[in-house]
Amino acid sequence: MILLRGGDPWGHAPGSDVLVREGTIAAIGPGLAADGAETVDVTGRLVLPGLVDAHCHLDKTLYGGPWVPHTAGDALADRIGAERRTRAAHGVPDPGRIAALLETMVAGGTSHVRSHTDISPELGLSGVEAVREAVGRLAGRVEVEQVAFPQYGLVSNPGTAELLDEALAAGVENVGGIDPAGFDGDPVRHLDIVFDLAARHGAGIDIHLHDGGSLGAWQIGLIADRTKAAGLAGKVTISHAYALGQLDDAQAGALAERLAEAGVNVIIAAVYSFPVPPIKRLRAAGVNVACGHDGIRDLWGPYGSGDMLERAMHVAYRSTFRRDSDIEVALDAATYGGARALGLAAYGLAPGAPADLVVVPARTPAEAVVTHPPRELVLKGAGWWLAPGR
Ligand SMILES: [Zn+2]
Repeated sequence: MILLRGGDPWGHAPGSDVLVREGTIAAIGPGLAADGAETVDVTGRLVLPGLVDAHCHLDKTLYGGPWVPHTAGDALADRIGAERRTRAAHGVPDPGRIAALLETMVAGGTSHVRSHTDISPELGLSGVEAVREAVGRLAGRVEVEQVAFPQYGLVSNPGTAELLDEALAAGVENVGGIDPAGFDGDPVRHLDIVFDLAARHGAGIDIHLHDGGSLGAWQIGLIADRTKAAGLAGKVTISHAYALGQLDDAQAGALAERLAEAGVNVIIAAVYSFPVPPIKRLRAAGVNVACGHDGIRDLWGPYGSGDMLERAMHVAYRSTFRRDSDIEVALDAATYGGARALGLAAYGLAPGAPADLVVVPARTPAEAVVTHPPRELVLKGAGWWLAPGR
């Protein structure tokens, strides 16, 4: 047993203890008795649930290796082309680099990850296997699910659909998509394939949608309608959904209602200056919002740290959140929102949930997001306990 004594668990009374028994939260409250428990005084510290990176690309990462100068042009097609041409020469995917990144993510308190893994005829399932090998090296310290991701096209890249099918048959949890109209050129056929694969394998769906303006908005509505027709509430996600950040309030609100009714999640990264969906508008309509890093130190871009508190800060900043209660919304996206998007059965600061806990030197959730201070303690269920600096 472990007793975190006197901290401020998010959502509970200040000065509450957290009792952990066999990797599960047994109780939260002031003055808990716990004879024989290993006690850690966390007075004045904020206790958070494990952080959830709901959208990243582990297989692409160059993390931990030598610096790779970026030379690609500014267009999306330039980045895709540069990656495709040079990835083999840079040894992508590399289980060692993926494991190095996961080590950093875990040390930052991330307990759950959803990673989009490139699949194409030239790559086969090499990315899926590399991610699995890396996750195995972490030995239970983080839970990772994958999305079979047609990065280089689906309808426009013959042979990819069959490989997605193979990946799902081999246990990959979700099927992905990418700009069904703007990149793949056939939105109806693209979504036919994705929704059919999900139905046949009982998989989740997570579609990259960078298409903006009316083209993007139309596809968001299309995905909502298909989700509703297929009865897949909670199992479908639109990642990025830039168009939502470009519409006026009435248009965004109407789409948000459709997404909420269908049960479609929205996952944002808030990277660079790309449009950010209106998080509070979406939540007010009942849409679940999560967040993630997107690429971390890869051939698409040199940025990204793996720290989900820092990512929540970017989400809050790009959303122009200043009030503490608003900044806390960004933290919700990096924790409970992510857990809902991933469909985690048990999660959070509540008795019965796995003891995935992060202790930080901050007094409030907003302070933790803005300062994203060093993690003092990270617990991941039973048997693993990171205590840097103690
Ligand atoms: Zn992505």
